[in-house]
Amino acid sequence: MFGSNDHIGDEAHRYGTATIGDAVARLRSGGLVAVPTETVYGLAADSTNAAAVAEIYRAKGRPDFNPLIVHVPNLAAARNLGQFNELAMRFAELLWPGPLTLVLPKTENCPVAPAVTAGLDTIALRVPAHPVMRELLHASGLYLAAPSANRSGGISPTTADHVARSLGLAAPLVLDGGACEQGIESTIVAINGTDFRILRPGPVTAAALERIASKPAATTDSETIEAPGQMLSHYAPNKPVRLNAPSAQPDEYHIGFGPVAGDMNLSDSADLAEAASLLFAALHHAEASKKKKIAVAPITDEGIGLALNDRLRRAASPK
Ligand code: AMP
Ligand code: MG
Repeated sequence: MFGSNDHIGDEAHRYGTATIGDAVARLRSGGLVAVPTETVYGLAADSTNAAAVAEIYRAKGRPDFNPLIVHVPNLAAARNLGQFNELAMRFAELLWPGPLTLVLPKTENCPVAPAVTAGLDTIALRVPAHPVMRELLHASGLYLAAPSANRSGGISPTTADHVARSLGLAAPLVLDGGACEQGIESTIVAINGTDFRILRPGPVTAAALERIASKPAATTDSETIEAPGQMLSHYAPNKPVRLNAPSAQPDEYHIGFGPVAGDMNLSDSADLAEAASLLFAALHHAEASKKKKIAVAPITDEGIGLALNDRLRRAASPK
């Protein structure tokens, strides 16, 4: 595909209990590998191998109408899979590598398995920035389909330990790269000609995209068609979640923010990026606590705060 590098089974490329060489061997034989990215841990497979892709859906218990993001090492590789117009090129050149996913028309000879795109004629593409994921992409020479490495609908993993806890016996080989820096899933943007729409808010803010595009994001009322996987209940702990709670009841684990101290605080200084990096860890912690319920302090609804509140609304939605 785009070249590979076979000399890397050694200790210098060990992350936790596995090396990059182990991971490449697993991926090439159609297996799954959990890998850190700057957003959350992904559950990766060769996107051109239909059986490997089916294994992702099975391990996660993910509904098959929910398409996967394909991770590639650079824009040149991305252009083998998706059709980039001028606006898509601008976003890619300015924001990749990074936590931005572009939804574009598939190329005519796009080699990914049909299940990756859930039968759509568009494909979601990202060039991640995390050094371990980048090493894996370069070493394997594969286009990697990788949703978050957790049971479908549950809390996303931002550490190797979260992966093991969520996937249990289905947990694959894990490359442990420590805690994810952004801690919240990529911003997903659909390109339609000269317009763009934000299908999922994330670390790349609407303001940043609008500056680059020199126009506002388009809005839509047909989200279900464009973003088939954006279920209302998602990222959900196994106990009730109450939002905008300045104080908590005795049976609630309180996730604080800024001046609302809580049992743990996402950011004392009300820094939204810091809060994003800790959000899923806080939900994991709250889920594991003895308290029967979870309450979350109000979080500023701007910038990355929009993405935090999007995840929290889904975490609080009835299943
Ligand atoms: P994740 O669960 O982080 O892998 O996110 C994947 C999400 O990307 C899905 O839930 C969809 O909402 C979105 N997505 C992936 N492919 C497409 C596509 N072709 N069109 C629209 N949305 C997509
Ligand atoms: Mg997910």
